[in-house]
Amino acid sequence: MSNISDIYGALVFNDHVMQERLPKATYKVLSKTVKEGKPLNLEIANVVAHAMKEWAIEKGATHYTHWFQPLTGITSEKHDSFINPQADGNTLLSFSGKELIQGEPDASSFPSGGLRATFEARGYTAWDPTSYAFIKDEVLCIPTAFISYTGEALDKKTPLLRSMDAISREAKRVLSFFGDEPKQVSTTVGPEQEYFLIKEDDYAQRLDLILTGRTLFGATPCKGQELEEHYFGAIRPNVNRFMQELDDELWKLDIPANTKHNEVAPSQHELAPIFQTTNAAIDANLLTMELMRKLAPHQGLVCLQHEKPFEGINGSGKHNNWSISADGANLLEPGKTPFENLQFLVFLTAVIEAVDEFQGLLRMSVASAGNDHRLGANEAPPAIISVYLGEELEGVVHAIINSTEHKSSGDIKMELGASVLPTFTKDNADRNRTSPFAFTGNKFEFRMPGSEVNLSDANMVLNTIVAKALSNFADAVEGAEDFESAARAYLKQSLSAHQRIIFNGDNYSEEWPVEAARRGLLNLKSTPDALPQYVAPESIAVFEQFKVLSKVEVESRYEVKLEHYSKKVNIEGLTTARLARRHYLPAIIEFSTTVASAIAAKEGAGAQATKAEKDLLAKLTACIDAIYTGAEVLEEEIAKAAQIEDSLANAQAYCTKVLPAMVNVRTAVDEAELLVGDDYWPVPTYNEILFYT
Ligand code: ADP
Ligand code: MG
Repeated sequence: MSNISDIYGALVFNDHVMQERLPKATYKVLSKTVKEGKPLNLEIANVVAHAMKEWAIEKGATHYTHWFQPLTGITSEKHDSFINPQADGNTLLSFSGKELIQGEPDASSFPSGGLRATFEARGYTAWDPTSYAFIKDEVLCIPTAFISYTGEALDKKTPLLRSMDAISREAKRVLSFFGDEPKQVSTTVGPEQEYFLIKEDDYAQRLDLILTGRTLFGATPCKGQELEEHYFGAIRPNVNRFMQELDDELWKLDIPANTKHNEVAPSQHELAPIFQTTNAAIDANLLTMELMRKLAPHQGLVCLQHEKPFEGINGSGKHNNWSISADGANLLEPGKTPFENLQFLVFLTAVIEAVDEFQGLLRMSVASAGNDHRLGANEAPPAIISVYLGEELEGVVHAIINSTEHKSSGDIKMELGASVLPTFTKDNADRNRTSPFAFTGNKFEFRMPGSEVNLSDANMVLNTIVAKALSNFADAVEGAEDFESAARAYLKQSLSAHQRIIFNGDNYSEEWPVEAARRGLLNLKSTPDALPQYVAPESIAVFEQFKVLSKVEVESRYEVKLEHYSKKVNIEGLTTARLARRHYLPAIIEFSTTVASAIAAKEGAGAQATKAEKDLLAKLTACIDAIYTGAEVLEEEIAKAAQIEDSLANAQAYCTKVLPAMVNVRTAVDEAELLVGDDYWPVPTYNEILFYT
């Protein structure tokens, strides 16, 4: 372990470095740009680029890249060196302001949902000066947005930044009624990243994990998570070394990795950083995920970031802790007496209104083939969106709706009953782990996003819909003679209209979906069910109103998501059929032949084969037939689905035909796994993968 203060931020061109390295005047203009979102001119960019290059070369960098987030969900980079050969044979190392602020990747191979025909392959990357440049593997990485020749967003970052502008604008409007004029209003995010670590040797033998990120086969292990011993349990030495190296590397990149612990499932872990401004937090999360994948092999491990690597075992999520702050002050801080805190109530109500009004869109923002295995399975929140407020705030909301008074329960002291233990104050809200969208003291925790996802979509939606609710409020009270009574009246009306979204109970219970249906809440179970919400007229209207996405951009993104889903399931289907035929059937047939030979040998020698042997052979034969037929049916379904041109119908076919056909094959293979001798089984099983030593 290195000394934190020596390494922290060492590889980032952050505010501190800028202050040190830039001429005072340049620094001033640049920080104005960063703090207030002002555009940057080329003259300033030239000075910044020069300083950045000098700094990067001192740190050993040889190349630079515009680092961006195409719609594939992962990050992209193309490295250019600083080398600039001169006519006299000398070589200069150069990096201009233009190269800093704008790039021109040939972008024809990135998904655009039909936005950019291949003959218009040109795309531009543009520097996002609000997220610091950093060095990764001898490359100076410049966080950028990625747009088409005609100006449409081709990435995840551009609309996110637009949504941050929108919510900032509307929040400032609202704050002005309270007499506040903050310089900067921004949303903050702290993403808790869950992941699995398994042995490289096991991984190498599992083609399903390699090709699809999840196991497509595998019988339930004898031991699961029922002993609840893994959560917060002592960390394996090699995992600990991994976490240490990861922390070191993250800290060098200014990424405030903070909490690390074992998660509920065997071999599952979590990392939570300290929250940051949304775009920086998301850049940091993407880098964190990349580093996790890169560093795990140093300990002979592989990091799995899929939402559901193992059937029947908890999946991985990425809790999106979200709040909004004005000049650093958290606007979702209720204070001791929330009922009297009108400003807090306005922001709280805006979130509740937004989440209810746009529940489908929010659900859509986290829909993916991987996350479908998680939402609604028993460890993750269901696909129904609801808001948890906790007792205290629910009391406040009731009082507002019913125009009654509310008395805060105040600080409740807890006595722990042993004199050596300190007395402390109880939190005003208990944790409700089952809620998909929970108020947790001074922020909301959106728990639906999957571990693998780029959080930009979820936050872009969240920011936009809350901006809309804030603007509804501002419109309603604008020009009112008595602001306070107009505001209270708005809260009453809005909370009454949207109280159906508030649910403090157990979201995992069997009664909840029934109750939710009664309340008229959406339950969009699969990705093809959820994605059409993107292009619903009210979604397009809200994106257009706040200039986050144009109709064309929304439609293209919808197409990309549908296509992505179908491609993922297609790969899974093909992998299932291939493995069934080439890994599992040969192994099961070989073992069954051994059993058959044993029977024949015994009977040939005049002895009786046992009932057990005959039974086993019959069971194995049934599995072989089921797998063979299952693979045939699966291949037919894949072929049929692939023929469907309409992208929604295509995705639906993958969901309702191909996935169930895959399950049939898997069920038969998993059954056989329990019958076939260990030495014959071609891959490591769940028992071995999850409980390695
Ligand atoms: P838990 O696992 O109990 O949900 P953690 O402490 O692991 O809690 O994670 C809480 C996350 O919420 C951290 O990343 C923390 O920085 C973040 N967080 C705290 N306050 C805010 C805020 N105002 N805005 C956004 N995120 C926040
Ligand atoms: Mg959490």
